[in-house]
Parts: sequence; C-alpha cells; structure tokens
Amino acid sequence: MYKPTAVVTGGAGFLGSHLCDRLLAEGFKVICVDNLITGNINNIAHLAGNEDFSFVKHDITNYIFLPGRIDYILHFASPASPIDYLKLPIQTLKVGSLGTHKVLGLAKEKKARVLLASTSEVYGDPVVHPQTEDYWGNVNPIGPRGVYDEAKRFAEAITMAYHRYHGVDTRIVRIFNTYGPRMRLDDGRALPAFVGEALRDEDLTVFGDGSQTRSFCYVSDLVDGIFKLLMSNETDPVNIGNPDEITIKEFAEEVIKITGTKSKIIYKELPADDPKVRQPNIEKAKRILGWEPKVGRSEGLKVTIEYFKSVIGKS
Ligand code: NAD
Ligand code: UDP
Repeated sequence: MYKPTAVVTGGAGFLGSHLCDRLLAEGFKVICVDNLITGNINNIAHLAGNEDFSFVKHDITNYIFLPGRIDYILHFASPASPIDYLKLPIQTLKVGSLGTHKVLGLAKEKKARVLLASTSEVYGDPVVHPQTEDYWGNVNPIGPRGVYDEAKRFAEAITMAYHRYHGVDTRIVRIFNTYGPRMRLDDGRALPAFVGEALRDEDLTVFGDGSQTRSFCYVSDLVDGIFKLLMSNETDPVNIGNPDEITIKEFAEEVIKITGTKSKIIYKELPADDPKVRQPNIEKAKRILGWEPKVGRSEGLKVTIEYFKSVIGKS
C-alpha cells in the first residue's frame, strides 16, 4: 500500500519530533530535516531503525535536494523561545525568510502540500483580546522580538504569495504557547524555567509583576489540531492553542503547589515588548476542524513535570 511521504523541517525539535511520531502513527513515511541548532537528536532517537523514518542533517536556509515523491511538508524549523531567538537573531530571520522560501520551492517542485508553523507572536503585544485570525497585530519591528515576529510574518506573506501566484497548496497554523515532554529545561520559557527552579528548590523568577497572561496548550492537543488542519481544505491561518488564560504570577504559584517545593517567587525586570496578554480565539478551529483541546493544565503539567524530573535525574 502507498504510504504518503511527509518532510518535517525542525523535526528534531520539541514540536517537530511529536509531529514525526504522529505522522508515523498515521501511516506516513517521514523525512526529518534539522540542523540541530536548538533541537536534539535524542528527541528522535527512538525512531532510529524505523524503516519509514529518515533524518537529514541540513540547514533549511540552504537549497535542499530530496529525491522521490513528497506529499506533505511541515515547516517547523526555527528557534522558538525568546532566549533562543535573542541568542540567534540572524538565524531566526534567515530560517523564517530564506528557509520558508526553500520549503515553498520544494513544495512547488514536488507538488506537495505545505504547512507553515506560524505563531501567536504575529499578533505582537495585542490590542485585540482574545486574538482572532483577522487581527493584524501590534508588532515592534525593531525591538528584540522583531527578529522572530517579523520573520514569521514574512513567512506567512511568502506562503500566501506562493499559494496565490504559484498555486501551491498551503496551510498556516498560528501556534499559541505549547508545552510538554521534550521541551528543553534551559530554553528560558516560563514553563521549563519555573519547573526547573521548583525542582531544584530555587526561587521562581517572574518577570515584571506577573500580571501578564498566557494560555498554555498541551502538546498532544496541538499536534492533533495541526494534523486536522493539514488534512483540511483551509488555506487561511488558523489559531491552535488552549484558551485557558492565566497570569504568569498565578502560573508560578500553580507550579509551586503542584511540585510541593518550598521555593518562593522573586521578581525581575520585564523584557522589552513582552506581550501583556495572550489568549487564542479558537472558534475557527472548532468550526472548521471540529477541534478543541482536551488536556487541562493540571493534567498536562503533571506529565511534563515527571518528564523534567527524569531529565534532571539523568543529568
Ligand atoms: P525547537 O527549538 O524545539 O524546534 C525547532 C527546530 O528547528 C530545532 O530542532 C532546530 O534545530 C530546528 N532548526 C532551526 N533552524 C533550522 C534551520 N535553519 N535548518 C534546519 N533546522 C532548523 O522549537 P519548538 O518549540 O519545537 O518550535 C517549533 C516551531 O513551532 C517553530 O517554528 C516555532 O516558531 C513554532 N512555534 C512554537 C511554539 C511553542 O509554544 N513551542 C509556539 C508558537 C510557534
Ligand atoms: N517569564 C517569567 N519568568 C521566566 C520566563 C518567562 O516570568 O523565567 C514570563 C515572560 O516574561 C512572559 C511569560 O512568562 O511574560 C511567558 O514567557 P515565555 O518565554 O514562556 O514565552 P512568550 O509567551 O513570552 O513567548
């Protein structure tokens, strides 16, 4: 029986590796393309020896030749945490622009469907709340986050241009804060930072006064939404995330409670352009994909904390 072939760029990263697992489980052949700049080969080590899986170490900002038929390309390559893209500003701009261009060229050549991993960061520090897909955002192009936000906005623009002018079959997912096993403890994002601090019995560092909000989605829910979008006919962007919004201070308190640590909260300066609120409006995903998240934060957090415990135990 014919197995469709999917390329996952950034497939050795947190989200990409979960997508590789899901696609293989759905009966696809998977080619993971990653230069390991923020990813980790351990995330896909369990797939070694699987005859439907292959790994190509490659920087997707450079031309890529892949022989044979390719049916789907999921473009997930990009530094993704604020710490990562502040450390790698040029690579972040390049993978969002040149990398997306290469991916679209490959999709055009292979007549493959391509799905772009975009982000809630295209909404910047939003003045529309919760964020709907028709909101154009409030982004500072020259601030520290501009390298990520504008790269993703360019990526969306070039994806739509290839769709409109070259007839490439495209999908765009706007991903909101997602967490789960295989996140890096040291990627600087709030969730691994708080859990790491709690497990080491250090104080939890909240930036600003902690009144800023985020809405955390468990990885299995996100992957499910992305797979449904990939299989749908929707070519305009779709938000995928969990609308359960919480302030960062309350979230730190929740981590303290669940881990049972004696740690306290300490406060540090808020980074520039840190969005004050973030919550996805997911009505479109519900209507078009019949999707909504199923895993609540307490359940997802417990699994993720166990994962981080095993990582800390190992090292
Ligand atoms: P990650 O850092 O774990 O994964 C990104 C992967 O891309 C890594 O394996 C990295 O090595 C690879 N990569 C980066 N530049 C590359 C290049 N030039 N060539 C080849 N590979 C390259 O991050 P993640 O959280 O898994 O994010 C994956 C994607 O999802 C990103 O595009 C990110 O913008 C998007 N996203 C993630 C979130 C989230 O909450 N995790 C939210 C919004 C959007
Ligand atoms: N944050 C924090 N302490 C940390 C890391 C992050 O208070 O150690 C805050 C950060 O300022 C932001 C929120 O938590 O307001 C979420 O940050 P994250 O890096 O997870 O991602 P973002 O949603 O900002 O891209």
